[in-house]
Amino acid sequence: MNLNELTITQASAGLKSRKFSSVELTQACLNRIAERNEKINAFITVCDELALGEAKKADEMIARGVGGPLTGIPFAVKDAICTAGVRSTGAAKILDNYIAPYDATVIRKIREQGGVLIGKNNCDTFGHGSSNENSMYGPVKNPHDLTKVAGGSSGGSAAAVADNMCIYAIAEDTGGSIRYPASLCGVVGLRPSFGRNSRYGIMPMASSFDTVGPITKSVADTALVMQTMAGSDPKDATSVTAPVPEYSQELTKPIAGLRVGVPQEYFAASGMDKEVADLTKAKISALEKLGCKIVEVSLPYTKYAIAVYYILVPSEDSSNLARLDGIRYGVRASEKDLYDIYCQSRAAGFPEEVKRRILIGTYALSAGYYDAYYKKAAKVRTLIIKDFTEAFKEVDVLITPTSPFPAFGLGEKANDPLALYLADVMVGPAAVAGIPAISVPAGKTKSGLPVGVQIIGSRLNESVVLRVGHALSLRA
Ligand code: GLN
Repeated sequence: MNLNELTITQASAGLKSRKFSSVELTQACLNRIAERNEKINAFITVCDELALGEAKKADEMIARGVGGPLTGIPFAVKDAICTAGVRSTGAAKILDNYIAPYDATVIRKIREQGGVLIGKNNCDTFGHGSSNENSMYGPVKNPHDLTKVAGGSSGGSAAAVADNMCIYAIAEDTGGSIRYPASLCGVVGLRPSFGRNSRYGIMPMASSFDTVGPITKSVADTALVMQTMAGSDPKDATSVTAPVPEYSQELTKPIAGLRVGVPQEYFAASGMDKEVADLTKAKISALEKLGCKIVEVSLPYTKYAIAVYYILVPSEDSSNLARLDGIRYGVRASEKDLYDIYCQSRAAGFPEEVKRRILIGTYALSAGYYDAYYKKAAKVRTLIIKDFTEAFKEVDVLITPTSPFPAFGLGEKANDPLALYLADVMVGPAAVAGIPAISVPAGKTKSGLPVGVQIIGSRLNESVVLRVGHALSLRA
């Protein structure tokens, strides 16, 4: 096995026993990036020199016996997350030259432990998309089939992990952007509960939805990264002070006796691919064999989740993106007058989908329509949360497919924004409710495309989601 193919668990053991060094491990990932990135387009920025320097320091830490499980392990970061001294574009031309003066809190925690930042991943601009075709730096291709999408918006991160260009990645999930590409690329992606991890330094998309979490090659790895990332942060008032469990220990608890809910509404969704449905059912049977009790549940408000999401998210988006005006932040495309600076900079700096969100959001928030759209959607959001609260009185977790279909062709849905919004039908509801959900590989279709299943848990109960995901996962 090449070094870049290792999981965190394997790589960390190898580093500690001095089988190889962090410099060698990092070089193996850099070699893979050099070989494959041109085809896949998973990275906007690769920081070779910085990474090798950090790897050298990590080797010294390991020699001194300090650090943790992420020491010396090369990781990549979605470009919508700020990294000190390394360009952070959010895949938008308006931030083409933006170098953040600080690390996002979650990145700082990993780097302080000796994590090796290897580069910044391509993504849909500011997280807007489900296919990673909305990046101003070109689409990301699926490593399993270069004619297919990698999924979005964190497609670069999922493709980089799946193609062994890094050992793991840190990404952002507002409405599915970690889980969706993880499922299409055949890797593991966790959206933590809203507030579990600090969002300080994450470029905001929709502030009442945004979360930051890991994309990894195994669920055991997810637990290791979460252990370092999670916890309250004085710099993020929405981060929660609840104690952080020992996730790696939680993983090993048996799952027999757990009640697993199968929400009818998800399986009744039109357009579900038969192979996806079959592979999900096989995973449900596997859980039953492992001693779980399978219970059918109903979440009646699920059918409104996508409508609610695509009103509330653009509304928050339109407000958050106002700061990118070529004055406070961003590339200035004109020097004529204030009006011109604003118009030219935003016209050149944002792709079509971002402009669409700003228009939808501004409309939904306008005085005449606020009650009819924003306020109503906010009320239905409460009903969706109640649905889940009721369901979690009956069951410990819910299981659903992550995407209704496997990776689709590049360009296939690119001119139909609504079709892309509907791809989020499985991942949207948990995001609306702010609860944790993981996507784990469930096998492949006959044509070799990965399929993921999603395990959803109650608020702040990442442990049970990881535990069930671990029991189901194909890799150790
Ligand atoms: N598909 C979702 C959207 O476009 C994903 C957003 C996200 O999680 N960043 O809004």
